[in-house]
Formats: sequence, structure tokens, C-alpha cells
Amino acid sequence: MNRQSSRDEGFDDVDYERIEAKRQRKLQRQRIKAKEAAAQAREAAPHVSLPEHISVANLAVLLKIRGESLARKMTSMGYSDVAYDHVLNAENASLIAMELGFEPTSQSQSRAQEEDLHAAPLPADLSSLPPRPPVVTIMGHVDHGKTTLLDHLRQSSIAASEHGGITQHIGAFVVPLPHHAGKTITFLDTPGHAAFLAMRRRGAAVTDIVVLAVAADDSVKPQTAEAVAHARGAGVPLVVAVTKADKPDADPARVKADLARLGVDVEDFGGDVQAVAVSGKTGAGMRALEDAVVALAEVLEKRAPVDGVVEGWVLEACTKRSGRAATVLVRRGTLRVGDVIVAGTAWARVRTLRNEFGVAVEEAGPGTPVEVDGWRGEPGAGDEVLQAPSEEKAGDVVKYRESIVERKKLSDDMEAINAIRKIKQEQRHKEEAEERAKKLGAWDVYGEEESKTAEEEASPVTTEVPFIVKADVAGSAEAVVNSISAIGNNEVRTKILRSGVGAVSEFDVEHASVAEGHIIAFNTRVDPSIMQLAAREGVRIVDQSIIYRVVEQVTDMLSEKLPDKIIQSVTGEAEIAQTFSISISGRKKMKIAGCKVRNGVIRLGSKARVVRSGKTIYDGNVSSLKSVKKDVIEMRKDTECGMGFSEWEDFQVGDRVQCYEESTEKRSLNGTT
Ligand code: GDP
Repeated sequence: MNRQSSRDEGFDDVDYERIEAKRQRKLQRQRIKAKEAAAQAREAAPHVSLPEHISVANLAVLLKIRGESLARKMTSMGYSDVAYDHVLNAENASLIAMELGFEPTSQSQSRAQEEDLHAAPLPADLSSLPPRPPVVTIMGHVDHGKTTLLDHLRQSSIAASEHGGITQHIGAFVVPLPHHAGKTITFLDTPGHAAFLAMRRRGAAVTDIVVLAVAADDSVKPQTAEAVAHARGAGVPLVVAVTKADKPDADPARVKADLARLGVDVEDFGGDVQAVAVSGKTGAGMRALEDAVVALAEVLEKRAPVDGVVEGWVLEACTKRSGRAATVLVRRGTLRVGDVIVAGTAWARVRTLRNEFGVAVEEAGPGTPVEVDGWRGEPGAGDEVLQAPSEEKAGDVVKYRESIVERKKLSDDMEAINAIRKIKQEQRHKEEAEERAKKLGAWDVYGEEESKTAEEEASPVTTEVPFIVKADVAGSAEAVVNSISAIGNNEVRTKILRSGVGAVSEFDVEHASVAEGHIIAFNTRVDPSIMQLAAREGVRIVDQSIIYRVVEQVTDMLSEKLPDKIIQSVTGEAEIAQTFSISISGRKKMKIAGCKVRNGVIRLGSKARVVRSGKTIYDGNVSSLKSVKKDVIEMRKDTECGMGFSEWEDFQVGDRVQCYEESTEKRSLNGTT
């Protein structure tokens, strides 16, 4: 089109090509420039390495911005009620850091890259690799003949083996196919959906093909539909076994029609799902079923390298008299005696390999299940098996993974802590709002209580309580530091002196003692002699392995430093109706307030404040109380009296007198105890 229109405008071919080439070169230059600019922007973005958990306050320090600016940014990103002590996970912290123009790296991701084992990617073109046996799971409705099918297949496995004898249950068995020279199918021998789902949930993609057993005399039933859904969810193709075909009331055509309604289009109905009529009882059709599986496996190109690193899945694990054993289904490579493998948080130097007949074998290739012993730790069904280059590496990988499990636990705890903090913060806000409302409306406050705390003072002095944190692993130490460093308010807060890995040492105690601080021992042993030393030095050791308990204890320790709450309760109220002077000791005069007692009791000597237009203009004592010129001790509601105040006479008609009592109450960071 372009060429045509250029020509129409009078360009010849040579002109057109020259112009086009120029345009392309320009475009190319622009592309290169844009790429360079993007790369420069990336490089210019300051790097920041984020731990697994970080409090908002600490993130602000790391990103070198003020706490308020960070809180504002977070609010604009959709966070509500941002609190400085909220603990963020690495993922959220990364997003925030990126918003602020940083290039974050996750410490845990880079650690996983270095410290864990990883499955090797398969080559894009598998055609040059040798085929491996397909792995088949039989699923279907209860009583539709799954077990009978497996038993029949197992029999053919036994018949074909030179060992004779019976198969042991190891989670899977191999069926040789004499009519397909050298070929085998591996059947998982736990029929049912729970096992399939459990594996899938753990990310184990073990099954290549699902054989869907549907009884010819019963057709599609709820669990048939469930099995189809599971297979679809896992992206695993089906072969239908129409079982019990030997029964007189067998109706395979109905089964196929019902399956079509489920969206399973069998071959006879123009679809590509193979359906084979079989009888687990007589064995009729079993060979055709095997052929169908082999044909599908060929289409699926199930191939795997037999050399290189070994990878697989744990199908089952159990403890035998000889120790722990696990069935491993090899996915790639060849597993041999002496190999070192890791599964979950367990590892093994393979002592013996046994097949489903309990016979020791030298090796197991892709698609082959073998029972492996020699485990340290407990492998679990669905764990991925990866070969390690040495025992040392395997041990390190397991240690690393255990620390990840621990971190996961901590992370769950963090969520709980965040939730609790949020609730407490909301409670505090509510209480403060109520108190404010009370003060504003204060006139008729007889019987009400009012509290004063240091928080209300203009610039409270902040007390810092120092802590040294010791933990079993760096991740825990970091999590503890993050959760406790944000505890406190403007009166008292924590200060982290140091944190580290290992047991509490004498030096830690001495350091804490000098700093008048305390120690947190998280998941690490505290020697009794260290405990004694700490007791002598007045250093408290919080010995805990549950993070929210640490938070609780530290909160309590901080609360002890809070000044008491002073509670004033109004015991009596009076209104000044007139003022007059009386003579005392000769020529000395004293001004007296003639009052009407409106509420409660007015007592001589009681604390009293005088309020004018909502403002307290005097706070002192009732120094004199008279009834009809006689001194009295107290006056009750609805009486009239004369009142004098210590060292103050500036009252006037209309002022209100509130007599009150004061008491103190212990305070806690979680609210008043
Ligand atoms: P599962 O619950 O799916 O494992 O079913 P089972 O294999 O236990 O079989 C349920 C019942 O059906 C048992 O009584 C079997 O003997 C019977 N059965 C299974 N397969 C066949 C078959 O091909 N033909 C006949 N006639 N009965 C069968």
C-alpha cells in the first residue's frame, strides 16, 4: 500500500527505499535513546535492600524521609490509618519504596537465590530427550471400580516382574507393557481425589494423565464431575475407562453421552478424549486402556533427561523399623545410591533404593518411583526433591528452609500484632474523643471523673527504655527489633542498643546494666548463671519464643515507666450567689462567697476549683465553710453557705465552685489498667 501510494505521488522505487531506510534509522536511533534513558533512570534510582519485615518508622529511616511524608505517601497509595509501628512485609515495603523512586531489592529473595536449591529449567526443545513413562492417577466416583482397576494393573505388574511375590505399597507402581517393547506406565496407587488435591495444593505436578473411571452401569455421578474439574484445574488430560463393561446392564453409550454433557468430548462424539470399555474383573479391555494411555503420552511428549541433576517429588513418607523412608518419583535425571537429595526440610544421602517389590535397585530414572532411605528430618508427601552437590550443601539448604518456616510463623505473628495494634489504637482514639467531649461540655459534672496525664502537658519528657535483642537466627532478631522498636508513645519508648544472633552473654548483661536496660532472648538458650548475673545487676531478661509475647512483655515493662493517671471526681457543686466580707481576728477582713449548694456535698478543706464562663480561674482548697456565721464541716445539696478559699478572693457572683477528690491509677500503654 505504502509503496503504491508513494509511487502515485511521483516517487520512484529508489526514492521510496531511501526515504524508508532513513525513517527506519531514525526510529532505531530513537529506540536506542529511549532504552538508554530507561537504563539510566534505573541506575539513577537509589538502591535499597529491604528486610522481610520493617516497621513504617524504620522504613522512613531507610528511605531517608520524614515519617510524616512517608505516612502521607502511604495514605495516597490507599493505606488507611497509617501508624508508625505498623509492620510491613517486604512486598508492600518494596511497592512503597518504588513509589518513592527507589530500586528495592528483597534481602530474602537474594538469599533464596544464593542459599536454596532450584529446579533446572528444561530445554525448550524436548524432542532430542528420551521418552519417560507417563504417570497416571485413577480418579472417579466411589464404587466405580478404581481399586479393581489398580488391582488388575498391579497383577500384570507382578506377572511381568521376575521377582514374583507381591507388591508393597509405596505409593506408585510400574506396569510394563509387553506389547510396547520396553515401555512402562507408572500408576499412583492411591485412588481418590484427596491425594491428588493434596499434592496439587503443595504445588506438586506429579500426574501426567488422569484415567477417569466411570461405571458402565451407573454413568456420570457427582464425584465423576468433581474428578473432571480437578483434572481440568490441574491442566491434566483425561482417558476415560468405562468400567464394569462385563455387567449385563452396562450402557457405555449412555456414559459417553453423559460425559459429553460435562464437557468431556469422547472420540465417538467427535471429541479427542479416548474412552475405553474395560472390566477390572475379567481383564477385558485392559490392554486397550494401556494403549490409550501410551498413545496420549506420546502426543504429550513426556520426555526427560536421564543424566544431570536429579529432581522429583515425594509421593509418600513413612517411618519404618529401619528408619524414615520416602517414595520418590523421579522427574529428571537418574537417582543412585550415594546421591544427596533434599526434600522440604529433610535431606538424605541415599542408602538404599527399593522398588515396589521391596527389591533393592541401583538406580531409578525419570517416571520411576523408588523408596529411598537415609533421611535426616521428615520429608512430606508433595515435597519437591532436588539433588544437592554435597551433604554440607544439603544441610545448609535445610537450615535455610527451616529459617524460612520460622519467618513464615513470624510473619503470621506480625499480622496478628498489626491487627491488635490497630484495635488498640482505635480504642485509644475513641477514649480520647470521649474525654475531649466531656471536658468541653463540663459544667454540671458532679460525680464525673476527669483524668490528667503527662500526655496533656506541653512537652512531656520521653523516657527511653534500652533493650539488647539476642535471637537464634538473624531473621528472628530483625523481626523482634522491628516489632518492639515501635512500641511506646511520647512519654516512654524503647531504644534498641544492639541486636544479634546467639545466646545471651555476660557482656550483654553488663552492657544492659550500664545502660539501665534489659535483654530479649528470643528462641535462644539463657544460661542459669547468666540469669543470676542479670538478677544481681537488675537487668531483666525476656526469655521468649513467641513474638507477640515479647511485645506484650515489653509493653508491660514500658508501662511501668508511665506516670500514674490522676483521676479527679467532682464531689460537690455550688453557685456563688453573693459576696460579702467578714472580720477575722480583729481588723483583718476576709471575703466570703455566699453559695447555693447545687449538688453533692461541700466539705471544709476539700480541693476546689472555681469556674467562670467554662474556664477554671482558681484551683485550691475550701479554707472556710460557714452556715449562718457558724463554722461547719460540710454542707449538703440545697443548702446555703459561706465559703472561703485559701489565698484567693477574686470570685464574683455567678462563678461556680466544684469540689473534687483526687486519686491515682496505674497506666499502661494499652490504656489504663
Ligand atoms: P472404587 O470405590 O472405585 O475403588 O470401586 P471398587 O474397585 O472397590 O469396586 C466397587 C465394586 O464394584 C466392587 O464390589 C467390585 O467387585 C465391583 N467391580 C469393580 N470393577 C468391576 C468390573 O469390572 N466388573 C464387575 N462386574 N464388578 C466390578
